[in-house]
Amino acid sequence: MPFNISGILAAFQSVIHPRLLIPNMIVKDIRCLDFRAFSQAGFKRVVIDKDNCLTLPHDDSIIPELKVSWDELKLEFDPSNILIVSNSAGSSQDAAGLAAESINCNLGVPVLRHTGMKPSHEIVHHIRHYFACTSHPIIDSKYLLVIGDRVFTDVVLANRLGAFSVLVSRDWTRTIKGRFIYIAEQAAVKMARKRLSQPQEPVSQFLKTTKINPSKVVLNYSGSTWTWVGRALGWGHNTGKSPKN
Ligand SMILES: [Mg+2]
Repeated sequence: MPFNISGILAAFQSVIHPRLLIPNMIVKDIRCLDFRAFSQAGFKRVVIDKDNCLTLPHDDSIIPELKVSWDELKLEFDPSNILIVSNSAGSSQDAAGLAAESINCNLGVPVLRHTGMKPSHEIVHHIRHYFACTSHPIIDSKYLLVIGDRVFTDVVLANRLGAFSVLVSRDWTRTIKGRFIYIAEQAAVKMARKRLSQPQEPVSQFLKTTKINPSKVVLNYSGSTWTWVGRALGWGHNTGKSPKN
């Protein structure tokens, strides 16, 4: 994995702008998301990370447990409105574009070809340019949903785009490194949240709470507090109660 200078710079920038690190939602994985609700709420486009969100690292096939949800996402938004943005496939690491082609073939969704690394402003420009050049260009990023598993890359990227960000917390690789990164990033989010005074809008309407095991849902940021909506790590303010909906 090459040195991600843009991710490191984002960490420093977040000291001044902590909101960069705050996702709109944190869920276990994409099975927790009600994509029809997103579509009905007016979202038009989706940017999604590959590794640990759809596939295992260095793998081109959908994680079997996620296939139904992935198909739901494609059904609701159409593959032409979904873009996979990865720091591996389609990046300068994938100079010949073989990984991007393979993922495009296996998952049925285009992979952004880019230089630089998430969350650089270069990638922000690439994504805006990609969607602006489609047959139905939508420039307003409030219609854009960004899903990823890393705070300092995916969440920062989403916030730089002005998009709605979803952080998925499940580490499918179950590695010590992955666990360490998760704990460090959650601590960073917690510290950033403590520094914020502006509340965010409730987002529980996008959770698939009625169709899945609630233990798959982690946390839902509603107003100025984190609400317990399932088995979760014990940080932030949780009520210890299940949501009413
Ligand atoms: Mg990832």
